[in-house]
Amino acid sequence: MIVFAGAMIWLFRYLGTLGQWRAPKNNLSNKAKLILNSKVSFYRALPVEEKKFFEFKVSEFLENVKISGINISVNEADGLLVAASAIIPIFRFPDWQYLNVKEVLLYPDSFNEDFQTDDGRDASGIPDNIGMVGDGPLNDKMILSKPDLHWGFANEWDGTNVGIHEFVHLIDKSDGSVDGVPKLFLEKKYIIPWVGLIHKNMEEIFKGRSDINPYGSKDKTEFFAVVSEYFFENPEKFKAKHPELYEMLENMFRTKR
Ligand SMILES: [Zn+2]
Repeated sequence: MIVFAGAMIWLFRYLGTLGQWRAPKNNLSNKAKLILNSKVSFYRALPVEEKKFFEFKVSEFLENVKISGINISVNEADGLLVAASAIIPIFRFPDWQYLNVKEVLLYPDSFNEDFQTDDGRDASGIPDNIGMVGDGPLNDKMILSKPDLHWGFANEWDGTNVGIHEFVHLIDKSDGSVDGVPKLFLEKKYIIPWVGLIHKNMEEIFKGRSDINPYGSKDKTEFFAVVSEYFFENPEKFKAKHPELYEMLENMFRTKR
């Protein structure tokens, strides 16, 4: 009976920790902080206390998500940029943990449908992927092209960042459906206005009257990921050009101060 009770207690404790991230073992090193400071403008702009919290979330991410190189080596900056891409969109959700990703695979370049890096285009001339969230056998994996991950942080003017893009897909996926409507981030009353804004802005892209990346007109899912990149990478420009969308994303990501 005692053994049984002991086993039950163990089982409940085990179930209680399922789906929970482990606490990070170490704080971020000074070298890591310097790398973040030099490469990640979102981190650089934070006040000291919030910088500490960002560092904690980065350490927590790296403790729980494996970063692997496919035919390439992975250095400290690579891991930090993957983690920064993950933390930026959820920074105002202190308890958020990406339980739907266990490993991020870094590729030496863009890749085709067979996950091969070749000449950068498929047979019909469509450019290869620079990032993707896996499904099926790759369900808890994300793939990113290493040079494109770095490029996303190296320039601030183009409003694109493939790391943020793919983690926004994971946020979208966390409510069970990848549909451009992140139900855990969006109050119910905003869902219909949000979908309305998506359609209105996709229309503007189709008519060639928008500076939003045309890839965002593919579907609602891609629209959400593409405008989120723009929102985090160049908030001033995004606010000036798209005030309604800006306000909606501010609500969604809780960035309003
Ligand atoms: Zn996408």
